[in-house]
Formats: sequence, structure tokens, C-alpha cells
Amino acid sequence: MKSVSKFRYSQRKINLNKQPIIIAIDGTSASGKSTNSKLIAQQLGYVYVDTGAMYRTLAWHCLQKRIDVHDVKAVAAVCRKWKTELKCVAGDFRSVRLLVDGYYPEKEVRTAETSAAVPHVAAGPKVRDWMKKAQRSCIEFGDLVMEGRDIGTNVFPETDFKFYLDAHLAERSARRAAEGVDEDLAKRDQRDSQRAAAPLMIALGAVIINNSGETPQQTTAKIIAEVKRRMAARG
Ligand code: C5P
Repeated sequence: MKSVSKFRYSQRKINLNKQPIIIAIDGTSASGKSTNSKLIAQQLGYVYVDTGAMYRTLAWHCLQKRIDVHDVKAVAAVCRKWKTELKCVAGDFRSVRLLVDGYYPEKEVRTAETSAAVPHVAAGPKVRDWMKKAQRSCIEFGDLVMEGRDIGTNVFPETDFKFYLDAHLAERSARRAAEGVDEDLAKRDQRDSQRAAAPLMIALGAVIINNSGETPQQTTAKIIAEVKRRMAARG
């Protein structure tokens, strides 16, 4: 298992002709970012990075420590001090995990309470700076498929491989309901789109895919075909 605790690459300008390939997958909640990113990672042998899980982990950590998630300064202070490590873990595909005090929270970060708290935590500029450094440092692990809300606009704006996923609200809500989660997705998307720091938006040059009525395999095939087309065009 490889790990990064110092975010060495974070400040350096990355030359993506020499550095690993980054596929940026942004989009609305429950638009299929995770499912498709995992399939892409599996099919291309890339490392999967779930940046939402990183924000969820911070939100969960704040709730554990009884920090008011609306208090931007208090959340930033927690983020400055928490003891974390990024690890690249092998499995069906390699994926990056954020450990807190040596522990990787999984189910805890998917609760309704954490989901409601996370957009508040994610709105703080200092938190976003910290996350961006951590996320950019992941190129140390190799070629990446990274999903989130600001990957193509803010974390890796220099990549040529940007995708924005969306689907009709009713279908997205049904996908979450099938996972046993009853959540107001429109409200979370609105919070994510309206914040001042790195809001959810479509990156310049991104391919927009509305995958309503599509299977994940169909969406993944479209993304991989476009990645290959762009790679061939780059030469
Ligand atoms: O993708 P997921 O639903 O797990 O993301 C949870 C939340 O984390 C989002 O609603 C958003 O508030 C925040 N997030 C973000 N930027 C990212 C990834 C997630 O602000 N790159």
C-alpha cells in the first residue's frame, strides 16, 4: 500500500504531457459519478478517487467532535489539525482512501446526518484549499479517475479529459431511494452550485452527459470512447 502524507505535487505546475492522465468526472448528486468512475478505473486500470468521500469524512469528523458545521472558522481549524493520510488500496481496481487517525470511515459518512452536513463543511475556502492540495497530490499514485464537483474547474483545470454528468431529478432520487437513502438532492445541488468557493459548474471543455435512462455500462463506454478520441487527437 502506497501512501502520501505530504502533498508534494500540490503547488507545482503539472505538465500533463509527462504526468499521469487525469479523468475528471463532475456532476450533480446521484448522477452516476461513482458508478461510472469505478467502471472506468476498472476498465482502464486507473486509480479511483472519490473526493466526495473526503468531504464526507471531514463532515463526519466534525460531527463526531461536536463542531458546528456552519462555523466556517471552526471547521477550518479542524481541517488544519486532523491527522490524515492518503492511501492507495488495491482491489477490483485501485482506489485512494483518506484515513483519519488510522481509520477509514465508510458507512458512517453515508448517513442522512452526514449528507446534510457536508455541503456546509465543503463551502469553506480553507477547507477547499486543503482538499485541493490533497487531491492534486494523488497523481503520485498514477493515472486517475477523480470524481467530485470541482475537479475539472478547480482541482485539475489543466486536464483535457473532463466530463459533467447529470440525469433527471426524478431518476436521480429513485437511484438514491433504491440504495435506501431518502434525500432532498435538489437542495444539496443548490447548495453546491451556489457557494462562492469552487461551486459545482460545468468546466470549460467538458463533455456533458445526461445519462437518464442509460445503463452505467452505456455511459462508461461513451466516456472511455471520448477519452480515447481525445488521446488520439493529442497524439
Ligand atoms: O459525491 P458526494 O455526494 O459523496 O459528495 C458529497 C458532498 O461533498 C457534495 O454534496 C458536496 O457538498 C461536497 N463535494 C464538494 N466537492 C467535491 C466533492 C464533493 O464540494 N469535489
